[in-house]
Order: sequence, then C-alpha cells, then structure tokens
Amino acid sequence: MVRQKPNVNVNGSALNAGKSNTVRSTMFFFIMILFAVAIVINMNGKGTATKTEVPISEVIQRANDPEGNIAKITVSGDALEITLKGKDEPTETSRKDASGTLYDQGLKNYCDGMDGDELAKCQETYPVIEYKEDVNVWGAVLDVALTVLPIIAIVVFFSWMMRQANAASDKSLSFGKARAQLYGPDKKKVTFNDVAGNEAAKQDLTEIVDFLKNPKKYEKLGAKIPRGVLLAGDPGTGKTLMARAVAGEASVPFFSISGSEFAEMFVGVGASRVRDLFSKAKKNAPSIIFIDEIDAVAHKRDARGGAGREDEQTLNQILVEMDGFDNDSGVIVMAATNRVDMLDKALLRPGRFDRHVNVTLPERKDRLEILKVHFKGKPVEADVDLEALAKKTAGSSGADLANIANEAAITAARGGHKAISNADLTEAFERVAIGPERKSKVMNEKERKITAYHEAGHAVVGHVLPDSDPVHKVTIIPRGSTGGVTWFLPPEDRSYKNIYELKDILARAMGGRVAEKLIFGTDAITTGASSDLKNVAELAKSMIVEEGMGKELRNQVFPSEATGYYTIATSKPYSEKTAETIDAEIKVLADEAAKRAEEVLKANKKVLDKLAEELLAHETLEEKELEPILKEAKLPTVAKLH
Ligand code: ADP
Ligand code: ZN
Ligand code: MG
Repeated sequence: MVRQKPNVNVNGSALNAGKSNTVRSTMFFFIMILFAVAIVINMNGKGTATKTEVPISEVIQRANDPEGNIAKITVSGDALEITLKGKDEPTETSRKDASGTLYDQGLKNYCDGMDGDELAKCQETYPVIEYKEDVNVWGAVLDVALTVLPIIAIVVFFSWMMRQANAASDKSLSFGKARAQLYGPDKKKVTFNDVAGNEAAKQDLTEIVDFLKNPKKYEKLGAKIPRGVLLAGDPGTGKTLMARAVAGEASVPFFSISGSEFAEMFVGVGASRVRDLFSKAKKNAPSIIFIDEIDAVAHKRDARGGAGREDEQTLNQILVEMDGFDNDSGVIVMAATNRVDMLDKALLRPGRFDRHVNVTLPERKDRLEILKVHFKGKPVEADVDLEALAKKTAGSSGADLANIANEAAITAARGGHKAISNADLTEAFERVAIGPERKSKVMNEKERKITAYHEAGHAVVGHVLPDSDPVHKVTIIPRGSTGGVTWFLPPEDRSYKNIYELKDILARAMGGRVAEKLIFGTDAITTGASSDLKNVAELAKSMIVEEGMGKELRNQVFPSEATGYYTIATSKPYSEKTAETIDAEIKVLADEAAKRAEEVLKANKKVLDKLAEELLAHETLEEKELEPILKEAKLPTVAKLH
C-alpha cells in the first residue's frame, strides 16, 4: 500500500428533534387518563359506604310488617338496598334469590290496586319498592371506558398534531415547514476566530457582516446589498463553519437547512419548506438563510437523468423567493457546495447567488493555524510538533485536521497519559489516514516476509525515481485493512503535478507487487497488492481521460463519471471506439509503470534485500533509518524518462 495524503470522512451533525413538544403532549395525555380514572372511581365510590348485610328472609318479614320500619327497597338486579324510615340514604343491603321476584319470595302486594291518597297512605306504612336498572358496576366502567377512551385518544392526537404544526416554527416533524435550525444568541457563537486560515474568504465575508450590521450605511449610498453568497470548496474546508461565523459576527438569526434534507421529502414539500424558511427569515430580518449542500437540490436540471422532478420544484421555489426579495429585506441567503460545476446556471445569475467565495484546502501555514485552533485548550507535551504535522498533511482539509486533533486526544486518554505526546499525534495522523494499527492481526513468518518485500519494493522504487516524493516512513505493522504502509511526503505543497511525477507515482505503486514477484516467483503473487493496482488503474484513467496525457488522446479530455456529467444510465460522452482507445492507453501506462519498477528493483536487488531484512527486524523505519540503506540504490538508465 502506498500513501500520500490522508483522506477521511467526517460525519455531519444531526439535527435536534423538538423534544419539549413530546414532553408536553405526554403530560397532556397523562392528565386525561387521570381524569378518566377519577370518573370511574367516583362512580364506583357510591357503593362503598358501609352498610349492614341483612338476610333476605328478615327483609321480607319486616317489609310485610306495618311496624317493620322500612321506607324503601331499591332493587337493582338481585341486589337490594334498604332505606329505613326517617333516613335519606340506604343503610342496609340484602340479596334476593336470583330465581324469582321479591313477591315470589314472600313479599305481599300490600298496596296493589291502590292509587291517589289511598296509595300514599299505604306507602307511609309499607315500603316503596323501587326498581333500578340492572347496573353491573364493572360492566358500566367498561362501557364508559369504551366510549370515553377513543374520544380522549382522538382529542389527544389532534392536540398533538396542532402542537407539532405550531412548534414547527422552531423545528421538528411537520410536513411543509422548514426544518431549519436557528442559532439564536443563546447558542454558542461561532466567530471568525474559530475559522483558521482562508484569509481571502474571511475578507469577502467581513463585508457581508458589515452589510448585515449597518444596512443603512449602504442604502444611503444607493448600494445594492448582496442577496446570495455562494461558498464553494472541497468537503471539510469549513464552509458550514464559515457561514455560522458570519451569523455569529453579525449577531443575526441564522436559519439553516441542508439540501440533502430536501431529498427525503414528498412531492411539493420541498418547495413549501423553502417558502416557510424564507418567510421566517424575513420576519426575523436582518437574518441569514443558509442552504448547506445546495447541489443536492440545485444540480443541473438535465444532469441526473429523470431523477429530479421534486428537486426542480424546490430549486424553482428558491429562485422565486430570491427574486421576490425587496432590496431592503435585510435577508442574506448563503449557500455552500462542494460542486459548483454541478449547480444549475440559473442559480448563479445576477440577483441570485452572484457573490462567490472560494474556500480552499489549507496551505501549510493555514494547516498549522487550524491545528492550533483545535489543540487550543488541550494539554500537550513539550515534544508535540504541530509544524511537522502541518507539513505531513498536504491535501488534508480542516475537517481532517480537526479529526486528527480529536483522535490525538483520544489516543492520549486511551494510553492513560495526562497530556498529548508527539507519539499520540503520529498515531492519530496515521489512524485517520489509514485506520487503526492492528498489532493483534496475526501474520505468519511467510506473510511478514512477503509484506516486508512488498513495502521495500515501494520504498526502493519511490526513492530511486527522480520525480517521486521522498520516502518518509515504512512499516509492516498492519493498519486498517493493509498489511503495511510506505509513506511518501512531498517536501512542499504543490498545486500541479507533471506527467513525470505522475508516472513515477504509478511505478512506485507497482513496486510492491513487482518485488513480490521478483523474490517469490510469478506463482506466488498475493492479494496484498489489490489496492495498489486499483490506485494505478484510477490514476492512469484520470491521466488519460481528464488530463489529456495519453499518446493518442493528448488533445482531448472527457468529463468523467466522477464529475457527474453522466451516469451509467446515460451514455458515455465518447464513442465506443474512443472507449477502446482509452482502455488501451491505460494499459500502456500500467505496463510501463510495472516495467520501470521491475528494472529499478532488478538493478537494486541488494538494497531491496537489506531493506526487507531491516523491516523484518524493526517493523517500522523512519526517514533517518531509511536514509543509509536507500542511498546505495541507483537509477538504471532503462527506467529513465527524461
Ligand atoms: P464543509 O462545510 O466545508 O464541508 P465544515 O464547515 O463542516 O466543512 O467543517 C467541518 C469541521 O472541520 C468544522 O466543524 C471544524 O471543526 C473543522 N474545520 C474546517 N475548516 C476549518 C478551519 N478553517 N478552521 C478551523 N476548523 C476548521
Ligand atoms: Zn502496496
Ligand atoms: Mg458543510
């Protein structure tokens, strides 16, 4: 495996869900339940006062007796309640035989056939028999529950829906409302001090901050306040951070939404969210709307086959809203993208995103500044050399560097150190670049030997070829998914590579496989070189297709899949014949690289043996230890290109 620049992914942060709403609606639900329980207890409560149970025979006998002192017998089902004369409430209970009425059981029809005064007189002497509907208490509870609970549930559900809809002014689940995040003054402010390097971009944005702070100053002079600012740059270069810093510096509300969120929406929802976002921003003006990863919705309308009806509506709505701004609306729309080339041109017209701020990968001194920002407040040993790390990390983004700083702290903590040492830093760097060291991975002696020759092959070829970067470190300790690593480091940052440098990169990548073949024979080639071969194939292809470095295809370049101009679904932007030529040209480059690696290693077999031997003995060799071994190696004329 050959490594030049770390290449890591950094996870984006997730949006918070609106928690307080759920808490409130849960409480509401509980109150309703308590209410229902209270009703049930209340109904049941009537029958719970203490009463004397009297045998039915005694009740009948007393009822038939004019002196029996019973005013009323209430019959519900088989249960009897007896109210004595002069009392308001029943004080005795009894139970009649289930098989018949009270009359069947001996009660006399004493007032039968009477009415008017006669009846009233009779009832003064004999008890009144009152029939209540057969109420089974628990059955009643069940009935009530079955009627009331669905109503409660519906009420709760609707009130929950209403709350969600209302609460959407902050965040959360409702459709059609912008799930925008608002960084109010209470949230931790990000300022330009948190953004290291990128002075040019910060300069441009300072102007925007001033617009937001003193709009009057510009209005008086009739200056048009910029409407849309597009931040363009590689992933992890700090675009999102920079947009938040603008809001922080200007102390204005910041409404942020990510283009990728639109992707998960139903038809029409994206557009309505855009409308909502803009209306909210206008209400809170001066304010900033930030559409992160805008390429997710605003890619060229024809670039992705038929995929984007919904995206198109969303994009159109953004355009409509931006056109509808008054000059003094006080809302500035910022957007960020990794892929300006992918954006729909309509978005870049005057009055829309007409200000472009390029955010670039940090140069060495900027990398140092970024590292300082991220090591601020972390305890470090005296030996920590951030400059050396800044030097090693050409091609890394701010996010990569932030990640290394964090990994270094984790590594130190894991090791039980009080402060971060340079060794922690190196480990973090390699971990981020390739993956964790895996000392526990067992390699048998044969495998270790093959790995040692493989890495030595990379190192010797890389060292000998004149346009390759110097070898920085070689190790046969497995890391990530690799058996070993050979690191090359450029002495300085460079923006361009010439064809000789690229060809040397191809040759040194082949060095591993070629060394294996040379030492162990053609039959012994292993799977250890697959990632090298993949890298060769990719680099060679881009040299031919994108850089015009082929023999035949020297004056033509073709947009590649990677740039998103076509997908497998659409056709390639070149003919079948050209495709064959491309394949042939790639093969020429790969074969040439293998041939050069072989010539170098054949001519330097002794150095190869020595280096492999040292690797087997020490596992890792740094620049200083490599130097005396490698300096014996010579460049054979056949491997020369110029
Ligand atoms: P982008 O939006 O360009 O992909 P981000 O703004 O999300 O990148 O950056 C991710 C993280 O990387 C930031 O939160 C920050 O910790 C770190 N970072 C990136 N660039 C810088 C920088 N110039 N200075 C300090 N930290 C940076
Ligand atoms: Zn390799
Ligand atoms: Mg971002």
